Amino acid sequence: MGELGERLRAAREEKGLTLEEVAEATRMPLNYLQALENEELARFTSELHARGFLRNYASFLDLDVQETIATYEAVRTAGSRRKAPLPLPAPAQGKPPARRSFLATDLLLGLVAVAILGLGVFAAYVRNNHVEPTPTVGPPPTPTATPLPVYTGTSYEMDVYLDYPAHALDVKQRIDYTNPTSQTLSNLMLNIHANHFKNTFKLNDIRVDVDGEWERPETAPLDVTLRLELPAPLKPGEHVALMLDYSLKLPSISPDSEFIRGSFGYSKRAISLGNWYPVMAPYREQEDKGWYGQTYFEIGDPYVTEIADYRVSITTTQGVILAGTGVETHAGNHWVYDAKQVRSFALAASDQYMVSTANVAGVNLHSYYFPSNEEAGKVALDTAGKAMELFTELYGPYPYANYRIAETEFAGGMEFSGMTFLGSAFYDAYDGTSRTPLIPLTAHEVSHQWFYGLVGNDQIVEPWLDEAPAEYSGFLYYERYLPDDVDWWWFYAVDQWAPAGKIDQILYLFRNNREYMDAVYRRGARFMRDLREVMGDPAFFGFLGEYQRRHAFRLARSRDFFTLVQEYTTADLMPLQEEYFRQRILP
Ligand SMILES: [Zn+2]
Repeated sequence: MGELGERLRAAREEKGLTLEEVAEATRMPLNYLQALENEELARFTSELHARGFLRNYASFLDLDVQETIATYEAVRTAGSRRKAPLPLPAPAQGKPPARRSFLATDLLLGLVAVAILGLGVFAAYVRNNHVEPTPTVGPPPTPTATPLPVYTGTSYEMDVYLDYPAHALDVKQRIDYTNPTSQTLSNLMLNIHANHFKNTFKLNDIRVDVDGEWERPETAPLDVTLRLELPAPLKPGEHVALMLDYSLKLPSISPDSEFIRGSFGYSKRAISLGNWYPVMAPYREQEDKGWYGQTYFEIGDPYVTEIADYRVSITTTQGVILAGTGVETHAGNHWVYDAKQVRSFALAASDQYMVSTANVAGVNLHSYYFPSNEEAGKVALDTAGKAMELFTELYGPYPYANYRIAETEFAGGMEFSGMTFLGSAFYDAYDGTSRTPLIPLTAHEVSHQWFYGLVGNDQIVEPWLDEAPAEYSGFLYYERYLPDDVDWWWFYAVDQWAPAGKIDQILYLFRNNREYMDAVYRRGARFMRDLREVMGDPAFFGFLGEYQRRHAFRLARSRDFFTLVQEYTTADLMPLQEEYFRQRILP
């Protein structure tokens, strides 16, 4: 540690504060505070980012901000930046609030699993499959260590009253946002996906914290977005808090609904809450496009969200069972979910749910189903457990302690972090055999925990980037566990549709679900099959694991996918590009 770190630590200790207490008081991430005190400045995403945090911390400690920044500059130019890994969230010290240590435990369990499992995955795959490395490929790239979560500095705290019979919610929501960009922001943007539906979302109040006073900002709604002007510019690394008060009156879901209309609303036996809360729009700094406001679209998943922390506290009607993202604590009709570093928070509710649980690969699996579908509910649990094991082996460790599947009444499946909604139609159709749609759908959805959850993508501009690997993961499940049924899988999932279309089309250009699924899912699965064929198994699976490690907790792009493919193969990929892609992605 050098002069800067010592100065910060001494000033903090003089105030008698632990790092945890500072994190609590300033709402600055503990990891960043530790990085500043340890002078691990390379851990910040940019110089401005580091400086923004340092300025805040110095000011909180009553240090001379200019002088501290000058010391920082000296440290930086002396080239003493260290590339030590981002410090783990420290185990809670002293007596922090109970929920903090609870969160830390959950994340630590995940991280330990990551550390243990991360590096052996590719080796294990090769071993299990007795394949030799392809001789035409140069030395395979050394897999990077599984990265720790990139703390985005965004957290959501919701206090929810869910009136189950009335299909209505009252919500108070706090958003803590730390400017992750290198630009000063004069406004913020929220995507309010509930505004896809008329007369559903009602904003009662919105406030922004200005030096401890909650002031009402100027706002401009447009389509599903809400832009709000900040009373003062938000510099890189600076933090701001918002407080929202809103009500939701849920739309009804019909059993044949898909996608948007199937994953948000109420049906006879359940309430589905997917993409239901105002969420910070991603800021597209690299593309120089600013806030990513999203718009209504009936087909596919027109949502792009970034990693954040959630703490959701729900009071609901007596007798209602909830299923949500994260670690659950529950007493009577009060439920709390803590979810750290997830892409979305989803919730299903029913006064009829039965629950089966299992523990597979250190993950607690929970299957929620209606009493008439008990057998299928257990098959969903069993399938999810096997899929979790397979994809942990192929793609890397699942980073959370819990995964839930909830039967809801619609005609599809929908993925969220740590959570999947599966439509009743698939349970009703369960016929006791392995050639039944419930199994491929469950495998597809579990794989979204990697392709969507861990490595996110722009599901509007490049929906193929999660759906093609997810659909092909259904095949990988059959190849591993039900090899006699792989021909059935190809017919059921792909060939019976005689699919057409380029897989990299933007979501908004599809005219109906059939066109979208033919191109993105079905041709997407064929593309993954052909890519594997061209690369050979060691390179293909090495690439998939490394793709997860390298882009975990981020939004990846098509070019990231292909850049990495080219690190794993020297094969000619142009024929594949011409066959499946509209745009030229390869350099
Ligand atoms: Zn999918």
